Amino acid sequence: MASSSSRVALSKTATHVLPTYARFPIRLSRGSGRYVWDDERPSFRYLDMAGGIAVSSVGHAHPHVVRAVTSQTEKLMHCSNLYYIDGQEELASRLTSRFSSSSTSPGRVFFCNSGAEADEGLIKLARRAGRDSGRYEIITAIGSFHGRTMGGISATGQEKIKDGFSPLLDGFVHVPFNDLEAAEAAVTERTSAIMIEGIQGEGGIVPASADYLTGLRRLCDEHNLLLMIDAVQCGHFRTGRFQSYERILEDRSVDFRPDAVSMAKSLGGGFPIGAFWVNESHIDALPAGTHGSTFGGGPLACATANAVLDVIEREGLERNAREMGDRLIAGMREIASERVDLIEGVRGLGLMCGLVLRPGAADATAPSLRLVEALHDRGALTVPSGERVVRCLPPLNITASEVDEFLEKLSDATLNMHN
Ligand SMILES: *Cc1c(COP(=O)(O)O)cnc(C)c1O
Repeated sequence: MASSSSRVALSKTATHVLPTYARFPIRLSRGSGRYVWDDERPSFRYLDMAGGIAVSSVGHAHPHVVRAVTSQTEKLMHCSNLYYIDGQEELASRLTSRFSSSSTSPGRVFFCNSGAEADEGLIKLARRAGRDSGRYEIITAIGSFHGRTMGGISATGQEKIKDGFSPLLDGFVHVPFNDLEAAEAAVTERTSAIMIEGIQGEGGIVPASADYLTGLRRLCDEHNLLLMIDAVQCGHFRTGRFQSYERILEDRSVDFRPDAVSMAKSLGGGFPIGAFWVNESHIDALPAGTHGSTFGGGPLACATANAVLDVIEREGLERNAREMGDRLIAGMREIASERVDLIEGVRGLGLMCGLVLRPGAADATAPSLRLVEALHDRGALTVPSGERVVRCLPPLNITASEVDEFLEKLSDATLNMHN
């Protein structure tokens, strides 16, 4: 049984790795499709509803991705950006074409290796875009998460992430999420950009409202600010559309386009790769010599991300994410309606959704941890988000029977839980 005491015990057995993570007592060594195995318990498998925190977008060991990784490794694993790199231009053009409509030009992409780095790129972009007019401030949301670098934690609107790391990078202002008036009031002559997540992930699966997105676009247009979307967790088809804002705004006939978007997590399907896209108006803000990365956009990363995109396109995973997400959320809502004593509600879009639990006793283990561990015992991996939210971020190729299998496990786990 995975109790929180065994969790602490196991973390103490790791003596050579910095103790920055509170780990669960599980060691995963193999995966196939939507399942992963701990080799010490060969007959027990976990249904992976976490996807390594929204990363394993096409499941584990997908044959097309495995082939792409092995054949690229045999050809050329690394090559610096001093030269042209196989697969990089192809990946960039596939991404930019997704960001443009027939009436807009496609913009450009920069490649890096993680979400935090992609967000750093956005921060540097906003600084360069504002410097001629003396503007440098970036407005971000309370409850946001933008990575663990000094720039990322400075941008993040959560005190626990910043604690002990002062002095932070100057020039960030945090305002309540989904509150357009608060954003409007925070704009000054120093403001250069507004950066938000389309759906707050670490903050507990909180989607931006359609009015908020269109209101921020108008506000940024009025004040000549960049509207930057951190799509590291909510992007890359997770919501059933390429970008979460497309899903949020699909019932509106608006032509919404941000100025820049950061990407990572699902992009490489498990291979580390990050990127940010910049629209055509801001390409000149980062000319040669202003930004770079040794590993960014390397041949192996690009081959893998291209293969992930192939799978998403060929197997219709944009549509699958929507359909399976709808099925999952409907099933979670049903369970929530039967356990209103325990569950406050369900939030999210597509395969980025979360169960919001009622607060537990102050001295007890957080409800989110208790449910995540109860699901471990029943063979399902999920991700806690704060004390009260349990997130599902499964591979985009999850099947209906797998969704139903998870809902049964969830129903059983909540049946045995008391507040
Ligand atoms: C995970 C995440 C990041 C940081 O990504 P890393 O790859 O861990 O650096 C940044 N922003 C959001 C919204 C995230 O979910």
